[in-house]
Amino acid sequence: MTGIGIHGFVWTGSSDQSALIGAMEKTAEAGFDLIEFPRLDPGNFDVPALARRLEGLGLKVAVSMGLPFSGDISSTDKDVVARGEAILLEAVSITRDLGATKLGGIIFSAHGKYNAQPTAEGHANSANTLRRVAEKAAAQNVTLNLEIVNRFETNLLNTTAQGLAMLDEIAMPNVFLHLDTFHMNIEEASPEQAIRLAGKRLGYIHIGESNRGYLGAGTVDFDRVFDALVAIGYGDFVTFESFSSEVVDKDLSLVAGIWRNTWTDNVTLARHARSFIAAKFDDARRRAETNARP
Ligand code: MN
Repeated sequence: MTGIGIHGFVWTGSSDQSALIGAMEKTAEAGFDLIEFPRLDPGNFDVPALARRLEGLGLKVAVSMGLPFSGDISSTDKDVVARGEAILLEAVSITRDLGATKLGGIIFSAHGKYNAQPTAEGHANSANTLRRVAEKAAAQNVTLNLEIVNRFETNLLNTTAQGLAMLDEIAMPNVFLHLDTFHMNIEEASPEQAIRLAGKRLGYIHIGESNRGYLGAGTVDFDRVFDALVAIGYGDFVTFESFSSEVVDKDLSLVAGIWRNTWTDNVTLARHARSFIAAKFDDARRRAETNARP
């Protein structure tokens, strides 16, 4: 682990300039190393100004997004796939311009509940589109990280094994998996084993509780999650993701089913999450070191 990040929606559901700057300042004040900006609409803000402010605060940044059904690259409609490809290419450019190197999220299909099985043709459209986007992203020093999410939020990639097969199909060195403990807790037989399976192809991870609220106040077995991250030598950012009806984004909150108030005070939540993650990671590292001592 090189640092601890936090999802911007802990702070604000808005993506206008002043809201994003406020979120960045709160992120730095709470001791995080990275902020994740979701679903950025470049019409709403001045990218170079945000990049300068991030640098001034000493913060790294990652970008995540989910494709809309109107730009679903796993569709069998050529126009819809082309629209999705354009959305991804724009997101890659924004990622680069912000000074980030990671684009994550549900970038292989629409983000939402499907009412049909995925198709072989749609799967191939997604892989072929991502290969083209990855070629252009590589030239901008941006990696693509496919977020494996639960069955209610995509029909294409619900498990790590499915994600790894997709990476083989895309066959580009700058495409990785983006795992998330909230989703893994639903879909994986063993989240710990899934992280070990991903190994060096894990590019990014969201740490979220089973109810998306306070870490430790749910059913995710974080000791085993961090044991697995230590075991694979995970050397990248670990980002806290939590949602409450207290902070509402009109799109993501509805798609992700955020109906309940799991917290009201985001400063206390964030500070707790940062120390929880740091302590769990340290404990796991000590367990590994102690075990290895003859
Ligand atoms: Mn996530």
